[in-house]
Amino acid sequence: MNAPILEAKNIEKSYGQTTALQDVSLAIGRGEIVAVTGPSGCGKSTLLHCLAGILWPDRGSVHFQQRNLTAESEAARSRLRRTVFGVLFQFGQVVPELTAIENVTLPLQLGGARYRDAAVRAQRLLDRLDIGNLGGKRPGEMSGGQQQRVALARALVTEPEVLFADEPTGALDTLAGEQVMIELVRLARDHGTTVLVVTHNAQVAAYADREITMRDGRVETGGRVTISGEAR
Ligand code: ADP
Repeated sequence: MNAPILEAKNIEKSYGQTTALQDVSLAIGRGEIVAVTGPSGCGKSTLLHCLAGILWPDRGSVHFQQRNLTAESEAARSRLRRTVFGVLFQFGQVVPELTAIENVTLPLQLGGARYRDAAVRAQRLLDRLDIGNLGGKRPGEMSGGQQQRVALARALVTEPEVLFADEPTGALDTLAGEQVMIELVRLARDHGTTVLVVTHNAQVAAYADREITMRDGRVETGGRVTISGEAR
């Protein structure tokens, strides 16, 4: 692997008396699709939040393209989250009062784009996700799978370097979940987007190039790749 795009070095994180992460180290290559799996409560979400610069580890460091995020200001990390990271969660991504197209244009407008230009890009992405005809609809008028595709479009419209997805199909039935994963992987491959997906679902993990397993706050297997690309 070339220099990793994202790396955690010996990170630890506790919530009061609860230790969520213990000495976690891992490296992710550019364009890799990596699944983090393990039983509920083993620290998957905490790890994703630390890697995405949303949470600050108590010890250790997180590096994006060799930049030590843990040494950066909150303002710098927030800018990074807006520009080079995309996030997709299980629920609550889409703003219920806004139409699909308005939801997807939002991150572009926050970045200073004009609505008309942003709407053209948003529509193109909705078309690719097969929901181009739903641009004028609000989330309440869509199925869960369609809403999650709007959320996916919103996470990808800024063309992030890394997409962080936390149980992205957790609220969907099997078929809708599979469709979201197929679209997610297809768009990520087309753009060379690196993906970190946290899931307890083996079917979701099967879409990844590599699986990192966690247990009791520690990485169990798959945290590092060797030059030959083999997990160790
Ligand atoms: P997973 O995503 O694998 O279910 P989490 O990262 O959500 O695991 O949680 C890891 C551990 O940290 C669990 O014991 C959980 O109860 C605890 N935890 C997570 N978030 C918080 C929080 N905000 N406050 C207190 N404890 C938390």
